[in-house]
Amino acid sequence: MNAEQLKGLIQAISERLSAHEAELNALDAALGDGDHGTGISTAFRHAAEGVASAQNPAEVLRLTAASLMNRMGGSSGALYGTLFLRASASLQDVITIDLAAFAALWEAGLEGVKARGKAAEGDKTMLDALVPAAAAFRAAPDLASAFEAAAQAAREGAEKTKEMIAKHGRAKYTGERSLGHVDAGAASVALMFEAMRDYWQEFNSNSESGAQ
Ligand code: ADP
Ligand code: MG
Repeated sequence: MNAEQLKGLIQAISERLSAHEAELNALDAALGDGDHGTGISTAFRHAAEGVASAQNPAEVLRLTAASLMNRMGGSSGALYGTLFLRASASLQDVITIDLAAFAALWEAGLEGVKARGKAAEGDKTMLDALVPAAAAFRAAPDLASAFEAAAQAAREGAEKTKEMIAKHGRAKYTGERSLGHVDAGAASVALMFEAMRDYWQEFNSNSESGAQ
């Protein structure tokens, strides 16, 4: 995937999150302050415009990180920003992101989120969708199957947060009352990976030779 295709990917994520803004706000309202959908869709819309000038994949991800950190606010703005900033750093001067580079960038990103947020899998956060999605990238035989498997893994991971008790962020104050609710950050990660899967499927079905 080259820089132009990656810009399309950021645009696709932005559209998907905007379409689910109210739903994400409602999930966050159950456990937090109800701003997650608005925060993340506003930030990704800003990112989708901001990446236009980027010359390479690392720059696309770095500019995306800047939009997330500056426009999203809250703890998750910093965490989402860290995800994309670390991902950007892992790419260095790569021109075309292949499967191995994608696997490495999610790995780097999620390690950044863990280090910054001090949460682990099972704590009912975005990590519960991100960790299985990243693992799917490591296990997949090719990029298209990686996007497919990651989307599925992220969605399953998000659903499982219903059975978890929140230990971080505002949601931790709800304690056992957080049971039965999907975590908003895990839900936005699932939407992000579903948008990526659909974008890449569509891109490949439109290109005769198949893309990489
Ligand atoms: P805020 O809590 O500042 O209002 P958001 O509502 O945008 O931020 O995001 C809340 C989401 O952030 C949660 O649903 C959770 O997934 C994620 N989150 C909160 N704290 C952490 C943490 N320490 N580590 C990982 N993710 C976290
Ligand atoms: Mg919130």
